[in-house]
Amino acid sequence: MTVGGTGAITVITTVLGGAPGANILLPRPGFAPYEAACEIAGAELRFYDLLPRRGWEANLASVRAMADSATAAIVVINPNNPCGAVYSAQHLYQIAETARDLGIPVIADEVYAHMVFGGSKFVPMASFAHIAPVISIGALSKRFMIPGWRLGWLAFCDPNGALKHVRMATEMLLNVTSGPASIVQAAVPKILSDEHSAFHHNVVNLLESSADALYRRINQIKALQCYSKPHGSMFMMVEINTSLLYEVEDDIDFARQLIKEECVLVLPGTGP
Ligand SMILES: *Cc1c(COP(=O)(O)O)cnc(C)c1O
Repeated sequence: MTVGGTGAITVITTVLGGAPGANILLPRPGFAPYEAACEIAGAELRFYDLLPRRGWEANLASVRAMADSATAAIVVINPNNPCGAVYSAQHLYQIAETARDLGIPVIADEVYAHMVFGGSKFVPMASFAHIAPVISIGALSKRFMIPGWRLGWLAFCDPNGALKHVRMATEMLLNVTSGPASIVQAAVPKILSDEHSAFHHNVVNLLESSADALYRRINQIKALQCYSKPHGSMFMMVEINTSLLYEVEDDIDFARQLIKEECVLVLPGTGP
């Protein structure tokens, strides 16, 4: 157990990225704390692209091309922040095959597990752990809407024992760093044993209707385009054509003006 999903990110990048010259493959667009954690660990960042016109799937040809013997892991975020994509079993299988060929584990960030809609199904990366070892990251923050409780975890799905030493190092590191508060840990069995189905149902319905409305309305605006409708998580990625907007320089400028004029907060896609 870790201090939020972010704690899990810090711990696993410290363990895997700490070797001299190690690099870690990260998705772009991505989730900024991975970059910070890799930099603190001294690991080199290598970005592989998610493809907007292919449902934000990973460009696995480029993953193969950029990996080398110092590559320590590939990070896969599914359901995806910030693109809202949910990967099919077929794509996850291809990711596992790629990781197997490269001899690396998959760090599967699944903090949005089960937060899917529009006919999509959440398939855990661990379903393919027999192909390549999987370290999955989970958290209570998003699914249970309690980000302030700071409870996350790392789960090793390693049927062939390839990560024995990684797991040992992770446990040693967790022994010398502080974990989640005991009173929060004590609540976990109760939280996870109850299905809370009405609660989750409501959350997913709200996310779906918001995503649908945004997708429809955004694509009616000439300067904005969203290539694929979100199927999960809490995000969607929108392209801005600044040449169609009056005095908007770039994404950061757009975000700044939008919050000033309309009190709507968006995250610029180029920054964290
Ligand atoms: C929010 C988030 C996390 C972890 O969040 P915590 O608040 O630290 O539990 C991890 N990965 C992604 C992709 C997230 O969006």
